[in-house]
Amino acid sequence: MTAQRIDGNALSKQLRAEVAQRAAALTARGHQPGLAVILVGEDPASAVYVRNKVKACEDNGLRSVFEKYDATLSEADLLARVAALNIDPSIHGILVQMPLPKHIDATKVIESIDTAKDVDGYSVLSAGELMAGLPGFRPCTPYGCMKLIESTGVSLRGKHAVVIGRSNTVGKPMAILLLAANATVTICHSATPDLALHTRQADIVVAAVGKRNVLTADMVKPGAVVIDVGMNRNDEGKLCGDVDFAGVSEVASWITPVPGGVGPMTITMLLVNTIEAAERRAGI
Ligand code: NAP
Repeated sequence: MTAQRIDGNALSKQLRAEVAQRAAALTARGHQPGLAVILVGEDPASAVYVRNKVKACEDNGLRSVFEKYDATLSEADLLARVAALNIDPSIHGILVQMPLPKHIDATKVIESIDTAKDVDGYSVLSAGELMAGLPGFRPCTPYGCMKLIESTGVSLRGKHAVVIGRSNTVGKPMAILLLAANATVTICHSATPDLALHTRQADIVVAAVGKRNVLTADMVKPGAVVIDVGMNRNDEGKLCGDVDFAGVSEVASWITPVPGGVGPMTITMLLVNTIEAAERRAGI
């Protein structure tokens, strides 16, 4: 079997066009959606992520407010900025780029964001809403993975899904979303003794580890759907995922490439969450 590629760029383009339409409709009613992006310090990777998020807003009719602070910014000053944005009616989403400098308690900052504006979906309350099946903001990367799976037309109902990785931002919310879609879910992690034992039984595998070749062809059930969240560098310095793409493509039915799979979807779902926040605020 040769797997079909799930094209994250194409799906992103389609979803961003829908975002732009919704943004235009909101703006016409006097509620232009606004996202505040805060960057503290000089981390080069964070600067790239933030630039891409701001550009994605601008390209799709959302207003973005970008605030950049020195790494010496105090925790109290950052909390004061978040508090001001919480009550700013023109701002519907607040994103504080992680990681923060060590002297700032990231949890305290995340928890200070109004849940109605927590478009990253990282707060304890947002996680609780997800767990309880209540409406709220889903963390962007797993939310994007769900859209990628949905785009294949493969139903999750009654299927066995294996998630590799249990981080609060990817693995755990991914598992909850799959469960909510009626999959039977197994979560694997670094203490799982025989990873292949689980993945070989999976109809859907989501790899969110951050290590190359965590999933190889011999670990995949023929016809499985494989979603690769990982972002690594290969020996030539090129971006690659957690999955041996060439090998697994011979066994799976659907597979996401890296780059061009999950990556573009993460920012897209941030836009979707911000639009949703603005629509809720506008009573739509
Ligand atoms: P993380 O917080 O480091 O979590 C990695 C998880 O993988 C942990 O739960 C860890 O288990 C597990 N793990 C480590 N080695 C393992 C092994 N040999 N077998 C099975 N599980 C193993 O990372 P993350 O934030 O979830 O991100 C995961 C990857 O996705 C990274 O490459 C990251 O760059 C990428 N990512 C991509 C996007 C995107 O937009 N494309 C977004 C977010 C993240 P323990 O819990 O036991 O330590």
